Amino acid sequence: MKSELAEMALDQKRTILDDETPETVPVPHALVPHLDEIAILLDIDGTLLDLMPTPREVWVPPGLSETLNRLTERTSGALALVSGRSLNDIDLIFAPDVFRAVAGHGAEMRLSVDSEADDVHAPPLDKELKRRLAAIAKLSPGILLEDKGYSLALHYRLAPHAERAIYESVSLIRADLPNAPIEVLPGKFVCEIKHSGFTKASGVRELMKHEPFSGRRPLFIGDDVTDETVFAIMPDMDGLAFSVGRRAMGVNGHFDAPSDVRAFLARLLDPR
Ligand SMILES: [Mg+2]
Repeated sequence: MKSELAEMALDQKRTILDDETPETVPVPHALVPHLDEIAILLDIDGTLLDLMPTPREVWVPPGLSETLNRLTERTSGALALVSGRSLNDIDLIFAPDVFRAVAGHGAEMRLSVDSEADDVHAPPLDKELKRRLAAIAKLSPGILLEDKGYSLALHYRLAPHAERAIYESVSLIRADLPNAPIEVLPGKFVCEIKHSGFTKASGVRELMKHEPFSGRRPLFIGDDVTDETVFAIMPDMDGLAFSVGRRAMGVNGHFDAPSDVRAFLARLLDPR
């Protein structure tokens, strides 16, 4: 039972991560509609920002915040960050700038930058469940535990050998709590456990119902497995999806690295 469940989780992960194709499909600029017509939705880690050995080490390169602020202006506010990080965490990274956002994999949403009172928060993950999952970090030095409130992430970039043991332990806890409304998100050297009631896609769908996003064509850029739920709903909204680092299923094009995404965004402001 134990290893079967772990095998399934790893298989699912492999299917997604093995779907890489070496061919390069650069993002055709002509594809992007006028800034008056689009909503710009951007994942953060591995998309806007370069991945670092630990999530706390990411940094905002010079010029990026200005680009995001100017794009926010030019789209009449229709720019949002779409991340697994909490709103709080996002604000710390981009301080002093504050952006509209779908955070915590859809558990939180900020539709207005004027008042924190309008921020939407889902209830956090059950404490006892968190405590049990947190104990997995003790399996090996180098496993970093990140409590995002709405989810819990086990980072193992510094302990890649622990991958199987981590997934096995998570599977055991899940088998113990078959009715717990949780799901496991395999990512790049991270195993994240979150409430199953929301996803980045459910957050984006909700966001797109509200001003200033409604009626616009979403343009979403993301790099990881959790972004695939958003790639999948873009056609429903006449939107465009671009992946980073690999060509994901169903995207309109892809970027090689976050630096290419940043250059693309800057070019949207000044197409010449
Ligand atoms: Mg990412």
